[in-house]
Amino acid sequence: MIRFEQVTKRYPDGTTAVDGLSFEVAEGELVTLVGPSGCGKTTTMMMVNRLIEPTSGRIFVNGQDIATVDPVRLRRRIGYVIQQVGLFPHRTILDNTATVPTLIGWKKAKARTRAAELLDLVGLDPKTYGSRYPEQLSGGQRQRVGVARALAADPPVLLMDEPFGAVDPVVREQLQDEFLRMQEAVRKTVLLVTHDIEEAVRLGDRIAVYGQGRIEQFDTPGAVLGTP
Ligand code: ADP
Ligand code: ADP
Repeated sequence: MIRFEQVTKRYPDGTTAVDGLSFEVAEGELVTLVGPSGCGKTTTMMMVNRLIEPTSGRIFVNGQDIATVDPVRLRRRIGYVIQQVGLFPHRTILDNTATVPTLIGWKKAKARTRAAELLDLVGLDPKTYGSRYPEQLSGGQRQRVGVARALAADPPVLLMDEPFGAVDPVVREQLQDEFLRMQEAVRKTVLLVTHDIEEAVRLGDRIAVYGQGRIEQFDTPGAVLGTP
């Protein structure tokens, strides 16, 4: 579903963030990218939705070389969740969640119905929370809205950059549990960046362990931890 072939990213200042990276993620697989700050995880992820362009190498999504796909169209098929989800402050939670479906031309009623389903899926009752505004929600709840919004147009691929990084440990564990339950229901192809090895192990079907600009190990949690 996602394939990197010898991908290198060198920034204009000469920093090589990603160095000859090749890997493959299967459809419906959740791969966590783990490693210290500055080793190239975010760069890897942002090349998948073409917010960053590789210096060399090729990236395929669903068999298509993404260099040949219009970036705006590409991003409609790729959900994106970052640490500080930017919700629109003057739109209700339901309207925030319905943003992408509305943007791509779904009928308003259909977009809202789908948004309500997704809010329900991430553990926010749409009857209670749908009409509220972002400032009326806790950080953890806003993060859930971010996940619901990323999934609303039903993209096959989901990119998540430290999605649970900004909340306290108790809420984080709750969000992780809910996310796993949700992933069982929707089975997206997911790349999830974290610097927390525990989170990587807990969530990943497989784990990509980064060194400087490279993946040093790409295996199941059990194999990465060295247990059978
Ligand atoms: P992360 O939390 O993944 O480590 P950073 O806080 O390092 O992310 O980076 C946040 C943003 O700043 C990203 O858009 C990244 O491209 C940019 N950035 C990171 N390092 C540099 C740098 N040395 N020069 C310019 N921009 C950078
Ligand atoms: P991570 O997500 O693992 O923290 P990044 O992909 O954000 O790592 O960064 C990898 C390397 O590339 C770091 O050395 C960072 O400083 C550098 N970098 C990231 N963005 C930029 C940028 N826009 N310009 C220059 N260097 C950058």
